Amino acid sequence: MEPSGKTILLVEDNKLNQKLMESSLRRFGFLIELASNGLEAIEKYEVEPERFSLIIMDIMMPVMDGLEATRQIRIFEQARNLRVPIIALTANTFNADRERCLSYGMDDYLAKPLNIELLAQSFRNLGIIK
Ligand SMILES: [Mg+2]
Repeated sequence: MEPSGKTILLVEDNKLNQKLMESSLRRFGFLIELASNGLEAIEKYEVEPERFSLIIMDIMMPVMDGLEATRQIRIFEQARNLRVPIIALTANTFNADRERCLSYGMDDYLAKPLNIELLAQSFRNLGIIK
């Protein structure tokens, strides 16, 4: 895998998880912008949507959860003809939750702790890496 220089918006409220995920994502050569909850994610994305190649979104967060943030991002994008890939990240791996994430406009769904091979596979499926 070669450095991509693309920026990922990593949305996660847990500081330790942020650090772990950041180091995993750096291995792919991505630049990382952090947000600690859904509202912060929306604010960062909507100021400069073209800056981000991907959003990795935790589901359970204070202030605004990942599902609601995704719903609002998709509404924002509709009028502008944009669509950033969003990968949900959650401790909950039941299939019903996967369907729920997809119904809110997420593109994929990964369980915590992050498995680097599954992450790479998801990136390939979404065309983020080759
Ligand atoms: Mg969380």
